[in-house]
Amino acid sequence: MKHDYECIVIGAGPAGLTAAYQLAKAGKPTLTIEQDPENVGGISRTARYKGYLFDIGGHRFFSKSKEVVDLWDEILPDDFIERPRLSRIFYGNKFYSYPLNGFEALRNLGLIESAMCMISYGYAKMKPIADPKTFHQWVRNQFGERLYSIFFKTYTEKVWGMNCDEIAADWAAQRIKGLNLGAAVMNALSRSLRGGQKRKPGQPVIKTLIESFRYPRKGPGMLWEECARKTVALGGEIRMGRKLSKLERDADGWTVWMTTADGGEETARAT
Ligand SMILES: Cc1cc2nc3c(=O)[nH]c(=O)nc-3n(C[C@H](O)[C@H](O)[C@H](O)COP(=O)(O)OP(=O)(O)OC[C@H]3O[C@@H](n4cnc5c(N)ncnc54)[C@H](O)[C@@H]3O)c2cc1C
Repeated sequence: MKHDYECIVIGAGPAGLTAAYQLAKAGKPTLTIEQDPENVGGISRTARYKGYLFDIGGHRFFSKSKEVVDLWDEILPDDFIERPRLSRIFYGNKFYSYPLNGFEALRNLGLIESAMCMISYGYAKMKPIADPKTFHQWVRNQFGERLYSIFFKTYTEKVWGMNCDEIAADWAAQRIKGLNLGAAVMNALSRSLRGGQKRKPGQPVIKTLIESFRYPRKGPGMLWEECARKTVALGGEIRMGRKLSKLERDADGWTVWMTTADGGEETARAT
C-alpha cells in the first residue's frame, strides 16, 4: 500500500521525534518510522522490564539554549524534577567525584600518580598536537596523556562503544566545552572553598561541571513518549517496528522501503 506524505522521518529518537513534532505543529503530513517495535526515544529511551523502568543512559537535561529548554517544557510541562548531580568515575577500585574534587583525586591517585599527571599535563601544554583530529588528541592537549588514559579513554569507550582514536576532535570540543585541567582545578577549588554550596548567580556555567540538572520524573524516555503522543495527536503518523531498508529518489519525490517486524515489506512516498 502506498501513502503520500510531505516528509518521512527515519527513527523516533530525540532528533527524529523533535523534527516530527515540529512538522506536525506546522501541519505537514509526516510519517515517522521506527525500527524498535515498542520504544521511542532511541538511546534516550526508558525501557520497561517486569514493571520496572530502566534508562539506557542517565541523561542530564541541561541546556544553555532557551529554545531547547522551552521545547522540553512545552512537551512535558509538569514532570521535570530538579536533581542534585552525583557522578563518579570508578577507577582502580576507587570512586572519583565528577566534577573533580581536587583533594579527593589527589588522595585517591596518591602523590606520585598526581605528580605524573601534572608533568604529563605540563608536557601537553608545552608540546600540543597542532590541529588535533581525534578525541584522543583533543583531550590529550587539554588534560595531558596520563589523565586522558585514566579518566577519559575508558569511560568514553565504554559509553559510546567506539575507540577514542576514531571519534572526531570537534565532538570532544562540543561535549567537554569550556573544560580543561585549569578550569576543572579552579572549579574543584572553588567548590571546596564554598563547602559544596551552589554556584553564585552570574558565575559562568561549564556544561560538564554542572551540579544539578532537570530530569523527567519517569526517566528520559518519558519526554520522548510524550513527544510521540503529542505528534500523533496533532495528526502525525508513527509506525513502530519498521526498519528502513531502501530509499529511492525520482522526479516526484522519495520512495521509502521498510521491513516490518514479521519480515514483511512496506513502502511509503514523500513528495
Ligand atoms: C549513557 C548515555 C548518556 C547520555 N547522556 C546525555 C546527556 O546527559 N545529555 C545529552 O544531551 N545527551 C546525552 N546522551 C546522548 C543522547 O542520548 C543522544 O545524543 C541522542 O539520543 C541522539 O538522538 P538521535 O535521535 O540522533 O539518535 P538515537 O537516540 O540513536 O535514535 C535513533 C533512532 O533511530 C532508529 N533507527 C536507526 N536506524 C533505523 C532504521 N534503519 N530504520 C528505522 N529506525 C531506525 C533507532 O532505533 C533509534 O530509535 C547520552 C547517551 C548515552 C548512551
